[in-house]
Amino acid sequence: MTDLKLFNSLTRQIETFAPVHEGEARVYTCGPTVYNYPHIGNMRAYVFADILGRTLSWKGYKLTHIINITDVGHLTDDADAGEDKLEKAAAERAQSIWDIARHYTEAFWADVKALNIREPAKWSVATDYIEEMLDFAKSIADKHCYELEGGLYFDTSTVADYGRLARAVTEEGEGRIETVEGKRNAADFAIWRKTPAGETRQMEWDSPWGKGAPGWHLECSVMGENLLGFPFDIHTGGIDHREIHHPNEIAQNQAFCGCGSLDETTHSGAKIWMHNNFLIERSGKMSKSSGEFLRLQLLIDKGYHPLAYRMMCLQAHYRSELEFSWEGLEAALVRLKRIVMAVERLADAESADPAHPKFADYRTKFAEAMSDDLNTAIALTALEEALAVKKVDAGEKRAVVEEMDAVLGLDLFGLTRADMRIRPKDATIAEAEIEDALARRKEARAAKDFATSDALRDELAAKGVEVMDGDPLGWEWKL
Ligand code: AMP
Ligand code: ZN
Repeated sequence: MTDLKLFNSLTRQIETFAPVHEGEARVYTCGPTVYNYPHIGNMRAYVFADILGRTLSWKGYKLTHIINITDVGHLTDDADAGEDKLEKAAAERAQSIWDIARHYTEAFWADVKALNIREPAKWSVATDYIEEMLDFAKSIADKHCYELEGGLYFDTSTVADYGRLARAVTEEGEGRIETVEGKRNAADFAIWRKTPAGETRQMEWDSPWGKGAPGWHLECSVMGENLLGFPFDIHTGGIDHREIHHPNEIAQNQAFCGCGSLDETTHSGAKIWMHNNFLIERSGKMSKSSGEFLRLQLLIDKGYHPLAYRMMCLQAHYRSELEFSWEGLEAALVRLKRIVMAVERLADAESADPAHPKFADYRTKFAEAMSDDLNTAIALTALEEALAVKKVDAGEKRAVVEEMDAVLGLDLFGLTRADMRIRPKDATIAEAEIEDALARRKEARAAKDFATSDALRDELAAKGVEVMDGDPLGWEWKL
């Protein structure tokens, strides 16, 4: 099978995947901070991690994938300033942090399911690892940390190549980091934050540095080390993490291992660091502070099947920016629908060995595309081309589609063309009513009763339903 090539942000190069442990792939993905609903940009990060995981499984590696849930420690500023996002949400809404975390974790999981993202081996919850975080911090405190009034700080000058992963170590970037009095280097960060005197927090634990809470970067280092062991194979996250969160994780990992230069990528705790680029949206609806922001549920409420969004993600390379628009989503939906209609024709076929030479080219094209740093855009065209092959055994075709969909995760055998219909939640007419009217209209037409047929059509039109006769996409009707 073709070697799997992946872009490593740490070396800025495409590298051939060679597992740390023979036959295995261990992957850590930075999970959501559960103080609010995830927006669809956040979900792009998990669609990407899912594609990576599925590709590794398809290549035959035994996959152990960890995604964490950050329920403490993530400040409103990624670097080192601001308030804890969860404490802040809890205070504003006069709710318990635990309730907030549970609510948004469940909302996140609902999106994961709707997007057909596979469950990881474990969802590791940060607050379940406080003991381990304290042990990790104690083990590096003497050599790499210093105490300030605010807590225990990591001295970034104590490790080699600090910040190599980041691209934007510009003066502006540095300037963004709020200075805390006594910090030795601008980039130093708190690995343990003390609760200020006279205050109590909902989430705080005892530590050698006073009552307080762990820093966000510490959490991921500790869960990665505990659950996957250093070094593991791949660490993923969104591209923003390449600038602060991951360089800080790497620094802690180097300190913990007593590791030197990052020329040896395993010294970072992982061999390969991968980052998905952002989903962007020009009107600012993706900002969680913008009231109604772009949640997956909003797409569903407007009538789009959630897998149309997955399709939209797969049409772009994960390292490219992707611009969200409703037109783009509709185009992805239509493309998915065409595929689903072709797959419906294979419903009754039984998978058979795809021996026909016509399939070989497309299977190779698919394998090469996925092996080339997860080029899902090309892989999708290979799927469509395989579906379009004529005069071949349906069972063989089915096997090819099953193989490709195991990697792309579009749930092609679970979807029907009716699922692909745009069905806004606030539609004034129930779908059953439309189907019923259309059935009666069909009968009327069969009986050549065109007056009734036309009347039914007008009746539907008055309720906002456009009947689409002879539509090649078989939509039949549209709201
Ligand atoms: P957070 O809950 O803020 O920690 O973010 C969860 C994940 O979403 C992280 O991997 C982020 O890097 C990623 N992310 C945040 N915004 C976007 C975006 N607009 N597009 C893609 N990924 C994003
Ligand atoms: Zn993380």
